[in-house]
Amino acid sequence: MNCRVCKKKAVIAIPRHNTAFCADCFDKYLMDQVRKTIKEFRMFEPGDRILLAVSGGKDSLALWEILKRLELDVLGYHLDLGISEYSKESTEKTRAFAEKRGYPLIIEEIESETGATLPVIAESTKRPPCSACGLSKRHLFNRAARQHGCQVLATGHNLDDEASRLLGNILHWQDGYLEKQSPSLPAEGGLIRKVKPLNRLTEKEMATYAYLKGIDYVIRECPMSADAKQIFYKKVLNDIEKESPGTKQFFYFGFLERLEKMFPPSSENAPPAGSCKVCQEPCYTDICSFCRLRMKLSPFPETQETAESSINFI
Ligand code: SF4
Repeated sequence: MNCRVCKKKAVIAIPRHNTAFCADCFDKYLMDQVRKTIKEFRMFEPGDRILLAVSGGKDSLALWEILKRLELDVLGYHLDLGISEYSKESTEKTRAFAEKRGYPLIIEEIESETGATLPVIAESTKRPPCSACGLSKRHLFNRAARQHGCQVLATGHNLDDEASRLLGNILHWQDGYLEKQSPSLPAEGGLIRKVKPLNRLTEKEMATYAYLKGIDYVIRECPMSADAKQIFYKKVLNDIEKESPGTKQFFYFGFLERLEKMFPPSSENAPPAGSCKVCQEPCYTDICSFCRLRMKLSPFPETQETAESSINFI
């Protein structure tokens, strides 16, 4: 198989575009896709400082490098979830990646913030692990962005992540989640702007980029995701994609084209109007979900000052 552009030996085939690329032409394709996404969804503004959520997996580490190649101002943020060996490896790979390239990184631990690791939080509160994890990340990302002068939060969600999430949300008619599935959510009600610059690129393309760039990332899946329906939806979509290349992209981008018509702005989807009495972060009620979670784990939650003192810089 040869590269469709320069006829050198191809390193990757991309059936949905009926093409194949050598390493150099693939790099150009990938960077063009990211640039196109950033421009089309108006993800960044001049002078923006970006807080990048970094898990230690291929997508977030690769996105970090891509955003730096685009000469953007990026601050990495890693949350150590306390999931035994998995979290140790994720934190170490993230730290090593940042140190090797001289990228600034903040590491926080969920245990310092709540008094418990994620498995303990899930067990004690009877909450699904991914729900407790998502709630904590939303809160801590927003807080870190505010504390470090970032105007936008970027995450490494790729096309497979977004299409499988969309499938799950449609199968269960989760209107509240569907209307928030834009790859670029504006800042509102004290919540930072959120963007997903990799939404045109698949898992396979991101894994190929990471391999070609020598990025050392965590390969194994998070052990708490064992029951996650997301994995099943990804498999279903991959089976469809094999039979009919391009369906995944058509499904997801077709939804984005219809998103505004389906969910016009209304008072029902208004942003948080107030702030939490405990932590002062944006909140719909008196006390935010994260502080309520902390209170369930301990009747005496840490003060904001104590929580902030647990931040480590490299
Ligand atoms: Fe968090 Fe669930 Fe993702 Fe694990 S799989 S990192 S618990 S959201």
